[in-house]
Amino acid sequence: MKEVVVLSGKGGTGKTSIAGCFAALAHNKVLSDCDVDAADLHLLLQPTDRQTEEFWSGQIAHIDETTCTGCGLCQELCRFDAIHNFQVSRVSCEGCGFCAHICPVNAITMQDNMAGHWYISDTKYGPLVRARLGIAQENSGKLVALVRQQARKIAADKGYSTIITDGPPGIGCPVISSLSGADLALLVTEPTVSGLHDLERVIEVCRHFRVPATVCINKYDINEEKASKIEEHCADIGIKVSGKIPFDTAVNRAVAHGIPLVEYGEGPATGEVKRLWKNIEELISPD
Ligand code: SF4
Ligand code: SF4
Repeated sequence: MKEVVVLSGKGGTGKTSIAGCFAALAHNKVLSDCDVDAADLHLLLQPTDRQTEEFWSGQIAHIDETTCTGCGLCQELCRFDAIHNFQVSRVSCEGCGFCAHICPVNAITMQDNMAGHWYISDTKYGPLVRARLGIAQENSGKLVALVRQQARKIAADKGYSTIITDGPPGIGCPVISSLSGADLALLVTEPTVSGLHDLERVIEVCRHFRVPATVCINKYDINEEKASKIEEHCADIGIKVSGKIPFDTAVNRAVAHGIPLVEYGEGPATGEVKRLWKNIEELISPD
């Protein structure tokens, strides 16, 4: 089983559009969306959910009104300003447990926190595992690990040979969680100053975790000089540029129709994305 993770050093590079195309192009695969803070791969794949599960993580404080004497100590001492009018804000509470510790009448208990949901769905392209973290909830790295674990389980149980993962943007904990142990990271970048900077950072993360990486320059023709600089930089550090996708208005039209670009029709970007997937297949093939 081979696992390809599509990443970008920042959001908005076209990562999900490319992952959606891979979903349509790859054979015998499981799909996973590890961008649990803002999952949107499902918008292109139109899934039907067959299993919905709660994601419990961390704790939040709960005040028993019948026991509380209204002394105000917890409100005064909560350094996250999470208690007002003897009510705990689910958004602000960090679950540190300090208020429960100092309440003179033990009116505060720490309770498990339901932080989001994860889903197993059917799509016309194969099974999809995805998740949605609740507003202002943390532990997205843990939820990403859970999504990957479920995708791997489905692949192992049903004999799928490839897992295609739409990873989170950036280089934080969820990215590390989506990357570790993968067979290949496709790093999607754009020909801008910040594009190269963000690419350098995510390449470092891949190197640290010893995950082979390859690069795709999206919309390379909006600034061919910068695109060349990215290619030169990749050549200098021994990273292959597996794809250069031109700007194509069909990409936005496909998104508006809720389908992967490669299903929307032929065009300059479509042909390049198909070539990119062929290159990725070669990179993950056993020989
Ligand atoms: S510290 Fe305890 S008793 Fe005092 S206001 Fe908070 S919950 Fe109520
Ligand atoms: S658990 Fe910590 S953050 Fe939450 S209300 Fe109590 S003191 Fe504030």
